[in-house]
Amino acid sequence: MTHALVASARDLAPEFERRAAHWDQTRSYCWRNVQDLSEAGIMGMTLPEHLGGQGASFLDVVEVVEEIAKVCTLTARVVVEANMGGISAVMAYGSEEQKAFCAPHVLAGDKPAICITEPEAGSAATEMQTTARKCGDTYVLNGCKHWITGGGVSKLHLIFARVIDEAGEEQGIGGFIVFADPMAGDMPAGFEIVGRERTLGLCGMPEAELRFDTLEVHERWLLSPPSGLKRGFKDLMTAYNSQRVGAGTIAMGVAAGALDRAKSYLLERRQFGRPLAEFQGLQWMVADMETQICAARLLLRDAALSCGENGDPFPDMAKAARAKLFASEMAIKVVNDALQMFGARGYSDKEPLERMYRDVRMFTIGGGTAQVLRNQIASSALGMKCPQTRTGYVDQDWPIQTLAAE
Ligand SMILES: Cc1cc2nc3c(=O)[nH]c(=O)nc-3n(C[C@H](O)[C@H](O)[C@H](O)COP(=O)(O)OP(=O)(O)OC[C@H]3O[C@@H](n4cnc5c(N)ncnc54)[C@H](O)[C@@H]3O)c2cc1C
Repeated sequence: MTHALVASARDLAPEFERRAAHWDQTRSYCWRNVQDLSEAGIMGMTLPEHLGGQGASFLDVVEVVEEIAKVCTLTARVVVEANMGGISAVMAYGSEEQKAFCAPHVLAGDKPAICITEPEAGSAATEMQTTARKCGDTYVLNGCKHWITGGGVSKLHLIFARVIDEAGEEQGIGGFIVFADPMAGDMPAGFEIVGRERTLGLCGMPEAELRFDTLEVHERWLLSPPSGLKRGFKDLMTAYNSQRVGAGTIAMGVAAGALDRAKSYLLERRQFGRPLAEFQGLQWMVADMETQICAARLLLRDAALSCGENGDPFPDMAKAARAKLFASEMAIKVVNDALQMFGARGYSDKEPLERMYRDVRMFTIGGGTAQVLRNQIASSALGMKCPQTRTGYVDQDWPIQTLAAE
């Protein structure tokens, strides 16, 4: 089954490659590619078979994503978000009704939007201010989110908010499944898409600001892990480990695509009467690039295979963090080196490398910055919590003095 999906991805790749510059230059979403992915069974391939998916593993997704990322970063992101992250949280923790509702949308081409980040809550996601107040059998959402990938094209939204019960007590952070179809103008009252960022790369993917003004969501759309709301955010965020493996794979795939192009160019382009490939300065760059890509691929596959190691259905947190950190930083350097090998030609938009260079920049920011991932990796390596708040160590009685007294 994996081989069939990877073969389909390889078959689609030349057409995706041909269209990639169009999405970038027109800043338009890759609807045509989404249709192809849906027909090939790649959208929602991780969904269980009884819901119409193929029960594919995260390792399967990683293999498919690498093939697509080599030619079109935008399309690879769609594949990740239609199989990992938000949708996998719904499949792991959702009610039967929630799963049955979401599955057909994803299979038909929807890429769910995961809505966590707010203007005042980026890396410190738990400082989010969006609230969901219980009122009878409904929650009323108020607040705003920004940098929401797919906002404006996605139909399914997993919106995170502070859940407040009818007595005014905070219960924890929960995720709400909200259906809105902005393309068809079918938006629930109180849900507005208020803006779109103009981004450096991945220009076909909307990064949107969303606003909720007394948006009513029935309680049956609250996604609550078995651990309940108090630990709910932590558990829902374990689903994000899969998203991180996916994001790292996109970065690695872009790097691999850039290196493929550079290798061909070095063999073809001549200077000083010789092919560039004969210059040792460039040969050693190729060797380093190849080695780094192989290392990233192994880290990512190891992370994808680690599902279940900690008793939950998602990749191990530290493995996912290490893999995404390494792959994202590596890819920026490798794509930069590949562009360098093309000389002036690499700097022109006639070559896809300038697009790949812009696209790959985001992977050390979105989905957990490189610094936040280092915090998590350090915490795991040291076997201790590494709180980031000024009072954190004091509260936990660690023998380290903070600046809290200032
Ligand atoms: C292209 C893109 C797509 C995105 N998609 C989504 C999405 O779909 N849904 C969503 O909810 N969010 C999304 N985001 C938001 C993303 O998750 C945040 O940008 C990220 O968490 C960082 O938050 P911030 O931008 O507010 O930076 P800040 O948190 O303000 O950080 C600024 C800088 O300080 C560093 N920093 C912060 N805290 C620490 C610390 N404790 N130790 C060391 N360094 C620290 C950061 O690493 C960063 O370099 C996306 C972002 C981008 C760029």
